[in-house]
Amino acid sequence: MTAPDPTPVSLVSDCGSCFGLCCVALPFAAGADFAVDKSAGTPCRNLQTDFTCGIHARLRDSGFQGCTVYDCFGAGQRVSQVTYGGRSWREEPPAASRMFEVFPVVRQLHELLRYLTEALSLAPARPVHPELRRALAETDRLAAGTPEEILAVDVPAHRQTVAELLLKASELVRAGVPRRREHRGADLFGARLRGADLRGANLRGALLVAADLAGADLRLADLIGADLRDANVAGADLTDALFLTQAQLNAARGDATTRLPAGLTRPAHWPRTAPAGPAAGEAAGTRGSTGAGRSGGRRSGGGAQGGRSGGRSGGGASGDGRQAGGRGQRGSASGRGQDRDGRGQDRDGRGRDGRGGGRPGRPGRG
Ligand code: SF4
Repeated sequence: MTAPDPTPVSLVSDCGSCFGLCCVALPFAAGADFAVDKSAGTPCRNLQTDFTCGIHARLRDSGFQGCTVYDCFGAGQRVSQVTYGGRSWREEPPAASRMFEVFPVVRQLHELLRYLTEALSLAPARPVHPELRRALAETDRLAAGTPEEILAVDVPAHRQTVAELLLKASELVRAGVPRRREHRGADLFGARLRGADLRGANLRGALLVAADLAGADLRLADLIGADLRDANVAGADLTDALFLTQAQLNAARGDATTRLPAGLTRPAHWPRTAPAGPAAGEAAGTRGSTGAGRSGGRRSGGGAQGGRSGGRSGGGASGDGRQAGGRGQRGSASGRGQDRDGRGQDRDGRGRDGRGGGRPGRPGRG
């Protein structure tokens, strides 16, 4: 009999149980994603005394789009309620700086937990399920340590181990797709991929910023760590896409006809109707032009400086040396700007964060 999969703590952010850690611990830079600069460890000016966001309902309109594409994968509530036993940085000022260092580390570990959990749900990956279970248990153990133990974790090394396992799982799942494309780590900025057949493609860590993926078939495509900021996924089929996170979706531009994997939700800021005119994927002459050149577009907020964010979330687990999440600036949904090369820095100085994710914004409470 197979042992049941370990069930880690929740991997879904619960801002109501968090001390606003991402709104304090992480820095951000004024630009396309944030209206102002903020240094690490400084509470955002919009953070309320009860740790809610004063502009939650109008984040995008207020220039804080980056906050809508961040996801802590449940790290915030774990650090707040478990690691620190419900004592906030306001109540324990001496512990504040350490708490802000711990949070990005746990966030990275939780992101790995998220991918490992998904991999364990994939039947074709069954041959590696025992290894995945062990990695899941070990990752959860690391995240459950004391602040000192957490800060001593060699996250890059652990991430690399996990990334190799996730790659094995991905290959097993995609093995049945004929003529699948290989774009791991590819620079597809602004690429014209409208209507492209990308079923089972390896897009791990690919730079897809501003790419035109309208109407593309991305079923079973491995999108771990792919940077989807401003990518047009209107009408695209993302059913069963592998390792796609809500943060990546939030950073992309889809519409009512975009087909989503189970468990992910259509971002509220996407148009609720399909665009008028030619159906997505039918644009003449563009079908499948992978890699095509940077069709215009801007290289977007990229960069660590810009702090924008977007879509990449699992960089670190993509096995391309990118970081998934760790520190970094808020809003870099992808952790981008931080880490195309895996060397970025982040919040605590250890690598970028991968703010990547789909953070719905802290609850505004009215
Ligand atoms: S969600 Fe964004 S704007 Fe709101 S308090 Fe947090 S960092 Fe500030």
